[in-house]
Amino acid sequence: MHCPFCSADDTKVIDSRLVANGDQIRRRRECLSCHERFTTYEVAELLMPRVIKQDDSREPFDENKLRAGLHRALEKRPVSAEAIESSVNQIKHYLQSTGEREIAALVVGEKVMEQLRELDEVAYVRFASVYRRFKDINEFREELDRLEKPAEV
Ligand SMILES: [Zn+2]
Repeated sequence: MHCPFCSADDTKVIDSRLVANGDQIRRRRECLSCHERFTTYEVAELLMPRVIKQDDSREPFDENKLRAGLHRALEKRPVSAEAIESSVNQIKHYLQSTGEREIAALVVGEKVMEQLRELDEVAYVRFASVYRRFKDINEFREELDRLEKPAEV
């Protein structure tokens, strides 16, 4: 990186060590031109992207809202709170791993459907019928038919 003193292009790392319980890397650098020394810190950027809503407004990602939505879809279904929590974490992890600062609500919705599909197919259809708004009633019926068929062995 550039030297903050003389703006030279090249600086070399003379020491690096883990700090903050291993959550950060502290680097001592030296400028190859002016020989000034300075310190940089490296941390993983695990920011939750903001959610772009249908009307183009933005809002912070709300984990509680996501959890509440899953619980609502899974009401009276045989799915443990632990399994729901694991889904919440998988969705969060996905959103963080995109590295995007903003993400469309639709993408979050698709991710939720993906999780629901694995947790419980009835809940999945319940959610999908509202969320994705099946293009027409036939498409919705086809999805129901598909789910009602006994699993092929
Ligand atoms: Zn310099």
